[in-house]
Amino acid sequence: MSHKNPNIESKCVHSGIKEYQYGPVVPPIYQTSTFKFENTSHGAALFKGEEKGYIYTRMSNPTIEAMEDAIADLEEGYKALGCASGMAAIHTALAALLNAGDHVVCSKSVYGPTATLLSTVFSRFDIETTYVSGSDIEEVREAIKPNTKVIYLETPGNPTLEITDIEEVSKIAHASNIKVVVDNTFMSPALQKPITLGADVVVHSLTKFLNGHADVVGGIIVVKDELSYKNFRKVLNQLGGVIDPFNAFLVHRGIKTLALRMERHTENAIKIAKYLEEHPKVKWVRYPGLKSHPQYMIGQKQHKLPGGMITFELKGGYHAGETAMNSVGFCQLAVSLGGVETLIQHPASMTHFSMGKEARVAAGITDGLVRLSVGIENVNDIIEDLEQAFSKIKLEVKEPVL
Ligand SMILES: *Cc1c(COP(=O)(O)O)cnc(C)c1O
Repeated sequence: MSHKNPNIESKCVHSGIKEYQYGPVVPPIYQTSTFKFENTSHGAALFKGEEKGYIYTRMSNPTIEAMEDAIADLEEGYKALGCASGMAAIHTALAALLNAGDHVVCSKSVYGPTATLLSTVFSRFDIETTYVSGSDIEEVREAIKPNTKVIYLETPGNPTLEITDIEEVSKIAHASNIKVVVDNTFMSPALQKPITLGADVVVHSLTKFLNGHADVVGGIIVVKDELSYKNFRKVLNQLGGVIDPFNAFLVHRGIKTLALRMERHTENAIKIAKYLEEHPKVKWVRYPGLKSHPQYMIGQKQHKLPGGMITFELKGGYHAGETAMNSVGFCQLAVSLGGVETLIQHPASMTHFSMGKEARVAAGITDGLVRLSVGIENVNDIIEDLEQAFSKIKLEVKEPVL
């Protein structure tokens, strides 16, 4: 790029792209597992890191590198590491930062498998986790122990959309030499840049907004200095959960429209959140763009726009949630999020069913709670579909006394 400091919309289109043979404007897909050495001394120089080049795709690949550089640029980090999934990115980042005997402070509203990874896999390696409400700074401060090495945040969190003040938590963490890892999946770097707010490491599920087209599973880690990069790269190379060149190509392609998509996701979500807030069959709506959101002001401070994710509670509990889910047509009943198409899901009967009711309620996942990933379609089509689905819900009507 010839501009010194391009704006985010321009970065989305141009970042990460280098000069390639024949001058393509798009990075070629280097669909190869390995790269030829000119001779043994060339191979040796590459392995020693004395010369820049490629050896083996698990270690690095030009197509993957182009996508990594684009995201590092968008997040204003030093470099990024492409992973096979969001969970591979989270696993690799935590494995790079933690040793046996260490302690993690983790916000309660995180993606379910993240909490499960900490409580089932990392706990076996003597790494203990304390869960806190990320929006309560005092609770975060009090959870810190002498052996705390990582504070792990997801903001807005899953599925409650609880917001944590990244800047405040980073200040507290750094005073005790603790690293802050932020899962930025729900916002994407077009709307929120945790590293500029003080975080040390950013992770993403590329599967969601960054790719944006529901056709790739991938993840990424962004770090802010060379030393961490080298350490993380070694760990990723050993764990082996790298993205492949074709998926990296697709993600890089998706990123070109990221800023545009996030604007439209938000524009639609604001209208839908207001529609839901006034609907007689909706008990409450949680959306970072509504003044009724408990951490609305923190959100205003740290994100550019409130994004495309809405959580709401239907009156009539489990039955109402189930009826609405079985009645939507235009909105698709599926897990995942962040694609161009509107997806809707009911955690109590789907993603969080196995938790059991008691644990769900403790995590704020009530029976009528619905999670909506607002797409970029015409907003009237989405609202029309919700309206006809809600009309099928029969709220308990009192039988007339005869
Ligand atoms: C989906 C998701 C993940 C996991 O990503 P995968 O690509 O499915 O492994 C992690 N964090 C958040 C917030 C997610 O939405």
